[in-house]
Amino acid sequence: MNNGMSQRIAVYPGTFDPITKGHRDILQRAARLFDHIIIAIAVNAGKNPIFSLTERLQLVQQEIDALSEEKNITNIKVQTFDTLLVDFAKKVNAHILIRGLRAVSDFEYELQLVGMNTSLSPDLETIFLMASERYQFISSSMIKEVAHLGGDVTPFVSPAVAQKLIEKASII
Ligand code: ADP
Repeated sequence: MNNGMSQRIAVYPGTFDPITKGHRDILQRAARLFDHIIIAIAVNAGKNPIFSLTERLQLVQQEIDALSEEKNITNIKVQTFDTLLVDFAKKVNAHILIRGLRAVSDFEYELQLVGMNTSLSPDLETIFLMASERYQFISSSMIKEVAHLGGDVTPFVSPAVAQKLIEKASII
């Protein structure tokens, strides 16, 4: 039986400034594992995002539409949040957090995050996924730097994101 109670809802939180092919790879994997994926874009003013919340939301929505059209993946949605992540997860009835792991350098921070989220909300489980090798090195911050210095970002992001990055390149 698959009533509402048994649906596995997973939240994939991040700044998504902007969404990359690394995020997209993680999303494709998560979409196979869980019934519903909710991408949760953190307002995250502390990180000084270069894209506004509205822009980040639009770019993520375009990626969701592309995954639906190109890969027939239809169980991903996006929302924004500016509360504690654990409170957002409760609100949307999710018991799973998805995080992507890249190099060893991600580990320390992720370990702290799991520790904190688990003590705030013991029922929440964090699942780590790794992108395929060719996307593992991609990070939003490095892509912004490449764009700023006039490099080609098209291998790392969707055409829509690449276009936006070119528009922003001078002010990054
Ligand atoms: P945050 O500000 O929370 O780090 P990001 O938007 O940078 O948000 O990343 C969201 C999540 O996606 C994080 O768990 C991050 O490790 C993961 N991620 C980002 N890029 C990649 C990638 N290339 N491969 C695997 N995971 C990634």
